[in-house]
Order: sequence, then structure tokens, then C-alpha cells
Amino acid sequence: MTHFTDLGLSKPLLDALAAKNYTVPTPIQAQAIPTVLTGRDLLGIAQTGTGKTAAFMLPSLDRLANPRVHPIAKRIRMLVLAPTRELASQIAESARTYARNINLTVGVVFGGTAPNKSVRDVARGLDVLVATPGRLLDLVDQRAIDLSRLEILVLDEADQMLDLGFIHALKRIVNLVPKQRQTLFFSATMPKAIKQLADAYLTNPAEVSVTPAATTVDRVDQSITFVNQAEKSALLTLFLQTNEIERALVFSRTKHGADKIVRQLVAAGIGAAAIHGNKSQPQREKALAAFKTGQMPVLIATDIAARGIDVTGVSHVVNFDLPDVPEQYVHRIGRTARAGATGIAIAFCSPDERINLRDIERTTRQKLAVSALPEGFNAAVQALKSLKLAPSARDERGSGGGRRDAGHGGHRRPSGPRVAIQPTGERRDGQGERSRDGQPQRHPQRPGAPRPDGQPQRHPQRPGGHPAHRPDGGGNKRPFNRGRSGRPARAQV
Ligand code: AMP
Repeated sequence: MTHFTDLGLSKPLLDALAAKNYTVPTPIQAQAIPTVLTGRDLLGIAQTGTGKTAAFMLPSLDRLANPRVHPIAKRIRMLVLAPTRELASQIAESARTYARNINLTVGVVFGGTAPNKSVRDVARGLDVLVATPGRLLDLVDQRAIDLSRLEILVLDEADQMLDLGFIHALKRIVNLVPKQRQTLFFSATMPKAIKQLADAYLTNPAEVSVTPAATTVDRVDQSITFVNQAEKSALLTLFLQTNEIERALVFSRTKHGADKIVRQLVAAGIGAAAIHGNKSQPQREKALAAFKTGQMPVLIATDIAARGIDVTGVSHVVNFDLPDVPEQYVHRIGRTARAGATGIAIAFCSPDERINLRDIERTTRQKLAVSALPEGFNAAVQALKSLKLAPSARDERGSGGGRRDAGHGGHRRPSGPRVAIQPTGERRDGQGERSRDGQPQRHPQRPGAPRPDGQPQRHPQRPGGHPAHRPDGGGNKRPFNRGRSGRPARAQV
């Protein structure tokens, strides 16, 4: 078995890995690290979850540290371009962790933050800058950054960057960096357009390809349920209430749809938050942080916002809407099979999504097991109809019910998502029930209210023979039903 110590990394980096308890490299790390250390270009076909961040970051940091050249004002030595803010901050966080024993500076810039802060962040020069393309070009246009001495360029999630329309930005950026550089190029898929980009930007690259889609898919227990679009929320609510969930990532096709799912779940007493492009950066960060810590175990996301999210312990991925691009299905369910873990992926298919399902099954070369609508589904549909939803953000603004600032009314209210799985109608803090954004709930659930489906709380088996719990047996997961104590109840049989 290969160990990190076999790959040629210097001691400070090995120590940083040991501190993280990483001893065995993932396949892409074992293949990529020795090559990147030699200074050769690399074309990596890999998706998030394979350990690719360390695969490019560790050897690059090693090269930047030996010999150590101090960056001067505005100059950047290594640039990592990533498609989303979340991925950019995760990469920067990893870089800082790995660089803890070497004195390299790491910065991150992305849109949605104050432009002046980004200017300040790069003003003194950096060894490593992680950036989204748009914000980087803003800095270029302001002459706040100098890429003319760049040594290493990394393009991460290149296919996603193309999907997001960053092609012109990428071309501009590549024109600004020296021809003499090392380029590391990663993409989960290799369609023709990506191959052409890679050919244009890389010189005699070594190629590594890991985790073909099927490998991830194999580790995930997948099923599909046929349901009308309008009844998907009831199905989701019931699913979350009757299964042991550690963290569930729910994918919605649209931003508006994501917000609506949140309102429906919150009305049913389930704490949830959404993450998508219309949310402000602080809202996105708060929702993600609450999801990571387990405070908010249900996160509704659009594909773009979820790309690259690295959260361990996602026990369930819910395809509330089926993606139009079948590869996206593989990315989505890969969120629950991070770093070798297993997980459960369920998908809801409305009549007009049958064609998407067919494409997914073709791409993954497997037929999804069909789960029938669960017991109590009709009651859940009725229960959801009778719930009054919190107004949408637009409604709130219209009715003058906008968010109050911290300090308003004499005491500070956190603006982020509230703790999930609040006891139904009970007070966690003795201050009265609040909605997820810290406001008093307009339609709080009554204490001791029955589940929306009117069923006793229990821990059923999923129809179709799939156990409702995770394949690994669970851990400290809880179903989303609540006991009388107000704490999330343990699974009841
Ligand atoms: P990535 O594909 O870079 O997003 O990494 C996926 C996850 O695997 C992250 O949480 C990493 O911290 C973790 N990881 C990366 N390399 C290793 C390793 N060699 N051993 C254990 N976990 C790892």
C-alpha cells in the first residue's frame, strides 16, 4: 500500500497531513503528487470527493516552499481558479491547513464580498490565491493584482466553469499569465470543449483519471419514487420525518423552488435552509456552516451552489427535481459518498421528468430501484395543504415584514438559520419559537402536534425493500420526528 511518505513530499507537509490523520493517499493523490512535484503539467479527470484538492495543493505548496521566494506587492505565485465561492473557500481552507508548517501566504477572493476587501487581500502579494474568475478579473481591471510572475495555474472543475459561462474569463486570465508556468487542469468530465481547452493550456501533460462515475454510484444506495410535482414536498417532509438522517442535501432545479421547499419544510416543523445564487454571501456561508456543524441538518441547494461543497457525513441526497444533465446526477449523489463513505440517494420523478430518468439510467448504466409512495403519503399531502407557509422574501418586503436588524427591539437576533429540529411548538431558549431567520414564527406548530401524515412516529422500512437507515448502520443520526422532551426522538420501531 502506498503511503504519503512514499510520494516525495517534504517533512513539513507530511507533518501537516499527519496532524489531519491522513496516512494513505487516495488514488488521484498517489498518481498526481509525484508528477506535480517534478513540475510537469497535469490533466486530471476527477470529481470532488476523490481527494483532488490535496492532489494538486500538496505538491504545489512543496514547490512554492522550496526554494521560498517571497511574493512582492500584488504578485501571485500560484493561482487556483474555481467555479463557485464555496469551492474557492474550501480550497483556500485546505491550502491553509496543509501550509500550516511552512510560511506560505494563502488568500481567497470571490464575488459577493466587498471589492475593497479583495483588493486589500492581494495588496501585499500572495503565495497562493484561490479565486472565482469574475472577481479575479475585477482585480485585474483595477490593476490591483499582477499575474505576470505566476508560477502555477490550477483550473479546478473546468467543466463546471464552462457550464457557468466562464470561458471568456478563463481565456482572458490565461492570456495574462506567463507562458512559462506549470498548469494543473481538473475536470469531472471531458467533453470535446474541455479537451480543446486542456490541449490549449497544457504542455505535454501527465494524465490521471480516477473514480469513473460508476464507482461513486456503486457506493450509494439509490432509489426513485414516482410522484406528481405538486406532491413532492409532502413526500420529502414524510421522508425526513420517518428516516434517520444525519445530514440531507436536497437538490432543487430552481432558486425559487429551493426557497419554496424551505418554506414548506419549516411550516411542517423541519429546520432547513437554502443555498443558491440569490442568497447573499453571508447567508450562504451561514447556511453552509450550520449544515456542516449539524445544527441545520437539511440543506436545499441548486446545482451551482452545491458544486464542490465538501461536507462529510451527508447521509442522504435527495433529488427533489431530476437534473437535466445526467452527469449532474452523479455529481449530486457523490455528495453522500465522500472519501469512501456510503450513503443513500433518493430521487423524485414527476411524469414530465421520465425522460431525464431515462438519460440518467443510460449514463450510470444502471436501473434505479423504484420505491413506492410510502405509507401515510396521502395524509402527508393533505397535511401539507393545510399548513400556512411563511411568506416568501418578496411577500415579506411587500407587507413591511422585512428582516429586523440585530439589536432592533433591544436584543440581538442571529440572522442565520435557526437550530434545526426544533421541538414542535416548544421553546428551546425560553424566548418563544423563532423561524430560521431569527424572526418570531408566524405559524408555529402547536406543542405535541401530530406528524403531518397523522401517523405514529416510527422508523419504517422504505418500500421496495430498501432499509430506511444508512448501509453503515447509522451512528448518531436521528429521524426528523420529535419526542415529547422536545429533543429529536430516536428511531422508534
Ligand atoms: P476533495 O476531493 O479534494 O474535495 O476531498 C474530499 C474529502 O476527502 C475532503 O474532506 C478531504 O479532506 C478528504 N481527503 C482528502 N485526501 C484524503 C486522504 N488521503 N485521506 C482521508 N481523507 C482525505
